[in-house]
Amino acid sequence: MIQAVSQAESQPVTPERGPLNAFCVDLEEWFHSFGIRSRYNDPQTWDDAPSCVVADTEVLMRLLDDAGARGTFLTVGWVAKKHPDLIRRLAREGHEVGCHSYWHRLVFEMTPEEFDRDLADCLAVLRDLTGQPVDTYRAPGFSVKTEAFWCYPIMRRHGITTDISVVPAQRDHGGIANFPRDPFVLETSEGDIRCFPVSVMTILGRRIPFSGGGYMRLFPQSLIHRGFRENHAQGRPGMSYIHPREINPDQPRLERPPLWNAKESVKYLKYYINLGTTRRKLAAMLRTFRFGTVREVLSIAPIRGRYSLANGTLTHSA
Ligand SMILES: [Zn+2]
Repeated sequence: MIQAVSQAESQPVTPERGPLNAFCVDLEEWFHSFGIRSRYNDPQTWDDAPSCVVADTEVLMRLLDDAGARGTFLTVGWVAKKHPDLIRRLAREGHEVGCHSYWHRLVFEMTPEEFDRDLADCLAVLRDLTGQPVDTYRAPGFSVKTEAFWCYPIMRRHGITTDISVVPAQRDHGGIANFPRDPFVLETSEGDIRCFPVSVMTILGRRIPFSGGGYMRLFPQSLIHRGFRENHAQGRPGMSYIHPREINPDQPRLERPPLWNAKESVKYLKYYINLGTTRRKLAAMLRTFRFGTVREVLSIAPIRGRYSLANGTLTHSA
C-alpha cells in the first residue's frame, strides 16, 4: 500500500519563528487500540493480522523529509521484531528510536514485575537493532497515572532518562490534570529522569490536548496552530504525536461494536474520524512550525523545576 506524497504536501518549507518542537510517532500497528473489543486484542492473534505499519511509517518519513525534520519513533517491541529493517532504517536516517513497550499494555494494568520484564524485552530488541542508546520512553495509552508512579525508578534502572508518557490533562486511559506542562527533572531513587509532557492548550479554562492522535484528526488546522502559538508565547516547546495508521484512510477496520454499546460505539467513531484529512493537516503543521526529535528539543529547551516522588506523589523540590 504505497502512498505517494502529493505536490501540495511537498511545497517549500517556510517555518514560522518559534522554538523547536518535538515530533513523535507511536510506532505500532493499526489494531493496537484500547477500549475497542476486537479479534486482535489477544497478542497471540497478531501474527495473523494484515500489516500496514511499514508503508504508513514510510509516508510519515517522507513528510518529515519534506519538512527537513527528524522525529522520535516510540516503537512497540513486537513491531520491531517483525519489521527489523524499518527500525534499522529509522536509526540510519537520523531519527530517534524510543521505547513504547513490548506488548503495548497499559502501565497501570501491569504489576511492577510485569512492567520491568516488558520494558527490558523491548529495550533489548531496539538497542540491538539500532546499535544506539535507546533512552526515551512513552507508555501505551499515556498510561502513567499517579497510581503508576512506581514505574519511574524501574525505567531509570533500565537506562531510560527521558519520559514522555504524561498528558497533563484529563483523558480516558491516562492523563494527569494537574501535572506540570513544562519539561522538568524528576528525581527517583535510581537517578534523575527528564519528563517532557505532551502539549495541551487552554480552552474555556480547561487543558485540552490538541497536537496529536485523535485530537489532531478531530480539530481544524487553525485550532492546532493556535495551540502551538499559545505554548510558544509561554516559552514552552510543543510536542506532537501521531500513529502511522492515522494518515491511512485505506487501513483495514476493526469490527464495529453493536449500536447498543454506546461507549464502545463512540470510541470506534473516534478511532476512525477524519483519517482522510489528517495527512494534509500534518503536512501543513510540519511546514508551519519547526520540528525535531525529543532529544534535540530537550538539548536546548528550558527545563523548569525539579520534582521528587515522595510518598508516591509528585512534590516540588527546593
Ligand atoms: Zn500506543
